[in-house]
Formats: sequence, C-alpha cells, structure tokens
Amino acid sequence: MKSKSENVKDHAMKKAVWDIIKKWDTIIVHRHVRPDPDAIGSQCGLKELIKTNFPEKTVFAAGTSVDDLNYLDTMDYVEQDVYDDALVIVTDTANIKRIDGDHYKLAKQWIKIDHHPLDDPYGEVEWVNTDASSCSEMIADLWLTFPDEIKMTSKAARLLYGGIVGDTNRFLYDSTSPYTMKVASELMTFDFSHTELNNRMNAIQPHTSKLMGYALENFTLTDDGVGHIILTQDILKSLGNEDGDTHPIVPFLGKIAGVKVWAVFVEQPEGGYRARLRSKGPVINTIAVNHRGGGHPLASGAHAKDRDEIEAIIKELKESV
Ligand code: AMP
Repeated sequence: MKSKSENVKDHAMKKAVWDIIKKWDTIIVHRHVRPDPDAIGSQCGLKELIKTNFPEKTVFAAGTSVDDLNYLDTMDYVEQDVYDDALVIVTDTANIKRIDGDHYKLAKQWIKIDHHPLDDPYGEVEWVNTDASSCSEMIADLWLTFPDEIKMTSKAARLLYGGIVGDTNRFLYDSTSPYTMKVASELMTFDFSHTELNNRMNAIQPHTSKLMGYALENFTLTDDGVGHIILTQDILKSLGNEDGDTHPIVPFLGKIAGVKVWAVFVEQPEGGYRARLRSKGPVINTIAVNHRGGGHPLASGAHAKDRDEIEAIIKELKESV
C-alpha cells in the first residue's frame, strides 16, 4: 500500500507523463526484448490511447515482431531519422540493456513507464510503480486517473486486459491487488471477448506440449521445495522448440505441490543459459541480480555462463528457502 505522499508523487508522475505526450507530434513506444503479453499490451495499448486521443500525432510501436503474440498486436517499421524529432516512451523495461531496438538512443526525450523495481534509472521522466501488477495496469490507471481527458477504446482495453492477465497469470500472483481487479473490471466493460483472449493466451502449441511433458518428467525437486530443469539446445531442437517457446512451461512447473522456488535454465544458441526464476514466497530477484539479471521479487531472470553457475544459482535458491 502506498503512503499519502507516495500517492501524491504517483499522481504527479502520471500528470507529467500525459503533459509530455501532449507536447510531441511524433511518439515511438518501445518495450523489452523477448516480449510477453504485458510488454506488448502496455506498449500497444499506450500507442492506441495516444492515437485515439490525439489523431493528429504520429505514433509507432517499435521492436522485433513476435509471431505468437500477433494476436495482441503487431509492430511498426520506424525509419531511423524519425527518431531525430520524436519522444520515446519505454514500457515494462527495467534496464536499458533490455530495451528492444537501438534507435531509441537517438530521440530527444525519453520516458520510462515500468512496474519493476527501479534498478537501472533511465529517461528524463520515470514513472515507476512497483505496486502495479503489470505495466498494462499502469497504462489503464493513467486512463482512470484522467477519465475526462483520456478516452479508452475496445482495442486498447483488450490489449491492457491481456497484459494484466499475462503478468498476473490470470490474477493468481500476489501482485494482484484489489485495484488490479477494479482496473480489469473497468476494461471488461469494453467491447472485446475476454474468453477468446483468455483461450488464446492459455493455448499451448502442440510442439510445446511435448517440451512440457519432458520438463514435467525431468523436473528435479528437493525436499526443501527447490525445483529446476535444464533445457538444452539438443532437447529444444529434438522436440521442435526454441527459447521463445519455453514461457508457458515456467508457471506450469510451479503447480507441482511442494514447489517453493524454481528455475528453468534454457541453453542459448550462442552458449550459456538463460535462467527464469520463480518463487512462491522467498525473494529471488536478489539472486537474479547476482547473476547478471533482475526482475520482480517473485519472478526474475538471470544468466548462467555454464553448468557451474547453474549449480551456484541452485545453491542460492536453496539458501533462500
Ligand atoms: P522471464 O523469466 O523472462 O519471464 O522474466 C521474469 C521477470 O524478470 C520479468 O519481469 C523480466 O522483466 C525480468 N527479467 C528477465 N530477465 C532479466 C534480465 N536479464 N535482467 C533483468 N530483468 C530480467
């Protein structure tokens, strides 16, 4: 819960963000690499709100296209020289190095909008709300704070609802607050099918169901509740998967009774492992920071250069419980 002064500061940040948006004719919205529904939802939801409320402005969503999130929205191609006279807004991205697309550096002004702990400050204006379940909740909160100024649309409502569902795992995680539910209920009053969206978000591709079977069979769980699985490139390829297919596996492993903290290590084509860390209580983002990563207290990402570093991360996870 925020204190009164934090609420005043949060309101001032929202006003500052909307006032800056009003000033620029060209706005490019970025988000993090390897986007998830909240990254796309907050990025494209904000783009849609700006376009709707200021039809005369030119607004882009920049970044690598991700085929399996196209059901939410697609990216725009942005010529490099457009950045010379543009405002860049980066959503859902804690660290500069995780911003997708290099050209953001060329813009005259940047704004950061994020719900991760503030570990890498960037942007002249930083609106960071770690109490928000998702960055999409923050964008919807902007609308609910200035309802007379900001018109919501069905398209934006669908994007933001999808982002909230994605980052809360359908309102399961403890980041889900009464305000999250209020925002979601307001968004649901718009004309989109939340059932269709939930079904799409919940769907697992047939090749990924095979990887999930492998992960469930080979998941190692200690008596203290520390689970892990290593997905090598050989395994991924033999089952027809890539790194980007592993995301539905991560929350699924947490369903196994007795799991308190768990890690999915995914070998990268260029070597080393991406570590996806999750917890049902012990804080694990401090462990992620020790291994070139970061994230939320209960959901973080890191890197392991080899099997020894994987062992080191598992040891730290055991200490955390
Ligand atoms: P993921 O396991 O990729 O779904 O990431 C879980 C959370 O950790 C997300 O909120 C990410 O933004 C954050 N995260 C993942 N990888 C990193 C990283 N290398 N550095 C900082 N934060 C990360």
